[in-house]
Amino acid sequence: MTENATSNRETLGFQTEVKQLLQLMIHSLYSNREIFLRELISNASDACDKLRFEALHNSSLFENDSELAIHIGYDKEARTLTIRDNGIGMSRDDVINNLGTIAKSGTREFFNQLTGDQQKDANLIGQFGVGFYSAFIVADKVSVLTRRAGEQSDQGVLWESDGGGEFVIEMVDQPVRGTTITLHLREGQEDLLDGDRLRGIIRKYSDHIVQPILMKKEEWKDNELQVLEEEETVNQAFALWARPKSEITEEEYKGFYKHVGHDFEDPLAWTHSRVEGRQEYTQLLYIPARAPFDLWERNSTHGIKLYVRRVFIMDDATQLMPYYLRFVRGVVDSNDLPLNVSREILQESKDIEAIRSGCTKKVLALLEDMASKEPEKYTKFWETFGLVLKEGVGEDFSNKEKIAGLMRMASTYTNSPEQNVSLADYIGRMKEGQDKIYYITADSFNAAKNSPHLEVFRKKDIEVLLLSDRVDEWVVSNLFKFDGKPLVSVAKGGLDLGKLENEEEKKEQEKEADALKELTDRIQSSLGERVKEVRVTHRLTDSPACLVVDAHDINANLARMLKASGQKAPVSQPILEINSKHPIVLRLKSEENKFDDWVSVLFDQALLAEGGQLDDPASFVKRINQLMLEMSSDEA
Ligand code: ADP
Ligand code: MG
Repeated sequence: MTENATSNRETLGFQTEVKQLLQLMIHSLYSNREIFLRELISNASDACDKLRFEALHNSSLFENDSELAIHIGYDKEARTLTIRDNGIGMSRDDVINNLGTIAKSGTREFFNQLTGDQQKDANLIGQFGVGFYSAFIVADKVSVLTRRAGEQSDQGVLWESDGGGEFVIEMVDQPVRGTTITLHLREGQEDLLDGDRLRGIIRKYSDHIVQPILMKKEEWKDNELQVLEEEETVNQAFALWARPKSEITEEEYKGFYKHVGHDFEDPLAWTHSRVEGRQEYTQLLYIPARAPFDLWERNSTHGIKLYVRRVFIMDDATQLMPYYLRFVRGVVDSNDLPLNVSREILQESKDIEAIRSGCTKKVLALLEDMASKEPEKYTKFWETFGLVLKEGVGEDFSNKEKIAGLMRMASTYTNSPEQNVSLADYIGRMKEGQDKIYYITADSFNAAKNSPHLEVFRKKDIEVLLLSDRVDEWVVSNLFKFDGKPLVSVAKGGLDLGKLENEEEKKEQEKEADALKELTDRIQSSLGERVKEVRVTHRLTDSPACLVVDAHDINANLARMLKASGQKAPVSQPILEINSKHPIVLRLKSEENKFDDWVSVLFDQALLAEGGQLDDPASFVKRINQLMLEMSSDEA
């Protein structure tokens, strides 16, 4: 920080990230340069919103001027553009913090996401809260003259920079409140010094801005363009959501989304409605087509914009959307909430609860509609947000069944990792006599698909859902039934196929179990504490053995997940089930000397087959090698 001794003029250095960003703006984003105007207008609009909100508590902030507006002007001779607003303005500290550093956490992520494709990269700017710096795409000098609302006129601040490493800041006299930004255009940007060109850009990007965006009228007279003193409104300047649906075009809906969602792609879908009754409010909610960069960050910004009778109250009102719908963007405009509503009030308000529940229902209904009418679009949605939506099964008790109905999963029916089977599809394909929905959880699709637990289901051609997302454990521990049919893990408890097995089969199985009683007892005493029980199963056709857990114990996949995340998982002893028809098991009956080794190997490979980790892999390998050697010497 170097201080100029002669006046209150100070030269300060930009934060390193800002310097990097400026370099990027200047050198890499010029092909999409028009967006600078969108960003500066968006900031001016935010500043007006903030003032209107603060003035709710303190109307003197308006300083007798409550007509908030944004003015755009150009000066051909001076080669400048100006963007002026009478919003909240900035104090000296505000200026230093806001225009010299990047406060938001996403900056690093911003750099990571850069693709080199100028179109795409330029569009990331708004999303990451670095819009102001885009001014340097077209300007080689930017000055900001500002005064915060409510301050004396000597509290004006002038900020200037050429986009190098530094900026200059100076206290000046500024009678009017708000912010004026002057851009000194670079060589080659002269096309922007044109009223029609500017109006075109404003209509393209900023039509939905609620405040009027004003420009001086222009008129041709004697073959010369006259700029009049009188101003006209260039944008629509009306809250889109407050207009009747029938009057809003698809393009307007999409344009508004890009503004509220800080996105550059069209949304996937939206729902717009006015709710009347005990609570009166309007909601315009969008499902984005792509995931925001911070979807998986704990402190991600989410939620929607809250307005009260057209007055902006706050961004990211998390209370208006459940966490599992954190990808939804849009606005809610309430007619009943008090204007001085704060985040604290929101947290406790019953009215907010009612609005939240209404918004949730709307979004779920929108998704249901999409799933039934536009399955391809829904597939895209599911790929993007399915993991998040699934959290809702555990989070939102009252909508559990609905959310479960929206889930898409892999299954043995399609046998592909693509998640495109719904519970309704599954039920539609259930076999005669089947009354349960069978699933398996594993840590990958392949582990699920090839699990020995599926063998009997394959043989009997019974579909099993293959769940391999981490969140699936959470889903099945909260979803016990769907459409009245219980969900049953194929790796838990005794295998009960109910009416899918006939009496004869059952009798035969009992007989086999009796016949092998001696063997199972021997195995059990050999394994000791490692198992809870050893029993004969008819789950298996190809594998010699598998592990299952008791119906009330936590399954192995979940236990591994808990362990991996550093949590204590209750140790549950597995049950070893053996396939009475398998040659290895039959061979065991007559084994004497090496019985313990054989049993150990049998247990360990069952553990491996379901994705478990061996306690002592070296011993396992040693035993296998020994057995292999013996077999080859037997053959010789
Ligand atoms: P973002 O708008 O996402 O916060 P920007 O880089 O566009 O990021 O702006 C940085 C900050 O500078 C804003 O958050 C705001 O505090 C301040 N700012 C920019 N323009 C104005 C303005 N016209 N009036 C008041 N504050 C402004
Ligand atoms: Mg901005």
